[in-house]
Amino acid sequence: MVIDGKRIESLLKESPSPSRKEVLSILRKAEYLRGLSIEDTALLLKVEDPDLISLIHSTAGRVKERVFGRRIVLFVPLYLSNYCTNGCVYCGFRAGNMDIGRKALSVDEIVEEARVLERRGFRRVLLVCGEDNRWGVDYIVDAVRAIYRHTDIRIVHVNAPPMDVEDLRRLKSSGVGVYQVFQETYHIPTYRKMHLSGRKRDYTYRLEVMDRAIEAGFQDVGIGALLGLYDYRYDCLATVAHSIHLYERFGTHAHTISIPRLRPAKGALLREVPHPVTDVDIKKIVSIYRLSVPSAGVVVSTREPSLLRDELIRTGATQLSAGSSTTPGGYAHREDSIEQFSINDGRSLEEVMVSIARAGFLPSLCTSCYRSGRVGSHFTETTMEGGIKRFCQANAVLTLKEYIEDHARNGCTDVLKRAVTTGIRDIEDPSLREKVAQRLNEIEEGRRDIYF
Ligand code: SAM
Ligand code: SF4
Repeated sequence: MVIDGKRIESLLKESPSPSRKEVLSILRKAEYLRGLSIEDTALLLKVEDPDLISLIHSTAGRVKERVFGRRIVLFVPLYLSNYCTNGCVYCGFRAGNMDIGRKALSVDEIVEEARVLERRGFRRVLLVCGEDNRWGVDYIVDAVRAIYRHTDIRIVHVNAPPMDVEDLRRLKSSGVGVYQVFQETYHIPTYRKMHLSGRKRDYTYRLEVMDRAIEAGFQDVGIGALLGLYDYRYDCLATVAHSIHLYERFGTHAHTISIPRLRPAKGALLREVPHPVTDVDIKKIVSIYRLSVPSAGVVVSTREPSLLRDELIRTGATQLSAGSSTTPGGYAHREDSIEQFSINDGRSLEEVMVSIARAGFLPSLCTSCYRSGRVGSHFTETTMEGGIKRFCQANAVLTLKEYIEDHARNGCTDVLKRAVTTGIRDIEDPSLREKVAQRLNEIEEGRRDIYF
């Protein structure tokens, strides 16, 4: 069984909130970077005392830095199609929404979108689409191949509906990095209420997709719960349990854990958030994911407002999207009437990078691990041993330098250049530091896509 709902419930119900002593002992364990058990995660989720919560944040910030250094990776979603045969009550793309214009981009239009993103400086895109057999796996495979063939996008990740092993194999063979599916809620009665029709009603088929994906050759998979559908404590604990299940079965934790929080969507049936999740809760959730699954990228999208996103990078988040549109075709041609949900942070890539740099972090456009075989169980183990940070730091500096050379506008270059200087200084290994300095000269001379 991937998730034992009864056990999740009883862990959250039975024990009282942990004492200060218990919390300190769990945080000490987390500093070993091996993650936390379900029992310890459940206890942390119960903490409400502000002093203890701020200790959780600071420990998560430290763990993040020891695992990934100061880098924050940036990516952008690219919506392919909003056709969907499912009836998810919270989503603007749901089948019954007659007020939305439907659009499935052609391969040429997909390449046009990717080119716009490439010109803005992105190197990592996440393809997103609704579920409709007319635009099934072949459509996504064609999109991935065309993007690699015709643009300078270096890694394509995919958030697409659950598939069987054969289709997942085909998807993987097109060169996709991470395969991402959110369970939305792990709580079965709530799942039934939120998914009224279509294939997505099948809870188990969705829950088991990551097992199928790994069997099909995906080494890196991304999970998450749509926060606001049910009690966040239940869904966060189940998300960690899901990652632990993958680790126990395949030796690899979830490569990413996302924290999508419910947003208003035109044409959605859901009028109110059933279980509101506050900004304080979001900060706690990010920190707990960081401590419980230290090897996972914790991904924060533009569903969250800019100020909160700026805070979350201090408390455990490692990946941010930027300059996003949730509309198929929304980059080349602005058109909001067919969006999935409204975003909350409209800053451009450059603005987000500058804000990361000003906060003392290192904006990164790195795609190196996926292309160097540091994936799956190898990535999980190296990361939990503290061995990924050196790559992260070096590659962040190199990709930031490229960005400055090719995309940064006057006025932003100084703050980003200072981030490069600090980034080099923070590389602990002197020989690596020297190599990075040499590579920076090569980038100035026009070489591109250098990575460790
Ligand atoms: N259609 C596929 C599926 O549902 O798995 C993949 C793409 S779907 C567009 C991506 C994710 O958007 C969903 O998994 C859900 O978590 C999220 N989402 C849907 N409606 C949302 C809303 N109103 N606010 C925030 N996130 C939403
Ligand atoms: Fe379709 Fe995905 Fe939206 Fe559900 S969440 S209606 S499956 S696009």
